[in-house]
Amino acid sequence: MSILRDILLSFLLLSAFASNCVFAEDEEFLDKSDINITVAFPHERQRLPFCERVYFIGATDASRGEILYVNGATTAVHKTGAFISMVDVKVGTNNIVVFQGRSKITRSFVVSQKQDVEKEPFKLIENSEDPRLLPASTWRTKGNLFQNRIMSTPDGIDTVFFLPDNFLVRGSEIKGLSGVIAVWVEGRLGYMRKSLLKKEQGIPLPSYDVVVPDPTIGFSSAPPYGKKPEDVCIFIDAGHGGKESGAISPHGWKEKEVNLLQAQAIKKELELAGFNVVMTREGDETLGLLDRVMMAYSQKADAFISVHHNATAAHRDPREVRHTTSYASLSNGFHLAKCIQKYIGPSLVPIKDNGAQMKSLAVCRNPAVPSCLIEVDFINLPDGEAESWDLSRHKKVARAVVCGVLDWMMNEAHDKKSEETSSK
Ligand SMILES: [Zn+2]
Repeated sequence: MSILRDILLSFLLLSAFASNCVFAEDEEFLDKSDINITVAFPHERQRLPFCERVYFIGATDASRGEILYVNGATTAVHKTGAFISMVDVKVGTNNIVVFQGRSKITRSFVVSQKQDVEKEPFKLIENSEDPRLLPASTWRTKGNLFQNRIMSTPDGIDTVFFLPDNFLVRGSEIKGLSGVIAVWVEGRLGYMRKSLLKKEQGIPLPSYDVVVPDPTIGFSSAPPYGKKPEDVCIFIDAGHGGKESGAISPHGWKEKEVNLLQAQAIKKELELAGFNVVMTREGDETLGLLDRVMMAYSQKADAFISVHHNATAAHRDPREVRHTTSYASLSNGFHLAKCIQKYIGPSLVPIKDNGAQMKSLAVCRNPAVPSCLIEVDFINLPDGEAESWDLSRHKKVARAVVCGVLDWMMNEAHDKKSEETSSK
């Protein structure tokens, strides 16, 4: 019996050695020429804001069927080779060790100190005599229409007005608050970023009730009801591009690429339905957010749809949150977002449908052109990555967008009815 036990024991020891288990301190047998693990996040030596854990994503060769260990814990490998895991981290340098078969890699990155940013609540009385305001002077705007936005609070995300370039306003610097100027327009106090204004010398102060031009003049306030698709211009915006990669998938594929593929599929299906479609980018150009808005505005687009793919914040476990949503920032865009999401949601089952939601997004803050932003899926998830690069799904989503746009253009009666009920 003892011989049998010895054989069994030595077999177990041998197999532990052969499977290159993570407890092995001796790295002699590691084959450095055979490393097939890539890590997409975090990057080598990346500096991350303070957090207690981060997601760790990458890819390996799934066909080997070998167990993957991240810091000693077994980690599931998706059929495409993608993996994702959450790892605990500490402030300072962190090393994550990944083992698989005879491959081992280490990734180092830095987690920053916790920063307590306690902002003092800043409330100004809407009164030019407020002692916190320095003496008023004249300022001239220097950004483009949608850049020159006035907010209702110094750190607000809402937009009260848009001012054209080279527009004169009366404004004051605020004591104890840099970077923001209090300005008076149309009889009220608003706030603008100082970087968008330059001080003017020797020009009489414009009155408090200077009239702001309406950027929506010449645009229809309603969807293009009853119009033929060939008379309707839809802007499709592939999110990010060029230097802006957007989110990253386990294999290191970039959001800007999948956004473009999905946007092209939407363009194709909209054109098949007869629409005029303009893309904000057809290739890998770097485009500012407001450039995209200005393009749709200057070409008097009827609708603007920005196409994105999501990824969660690094400290949040993305496996908990896979969903699809359409966002809008203004009510005309929200109407469009609701109509589109009504079809996208069911087309992406079993991904959770979070419906249409309001969110202040630069590309959606266009009062003249109904604008929305679709977040199709989460590409930092192995499932999300695989499905987001699936051409047949691009087509499915594209068809859903066409249905949504047609619905948006046809439900005038329905809108009136819902407006009546909501006003009661
Ligand atoms: Zn994006």
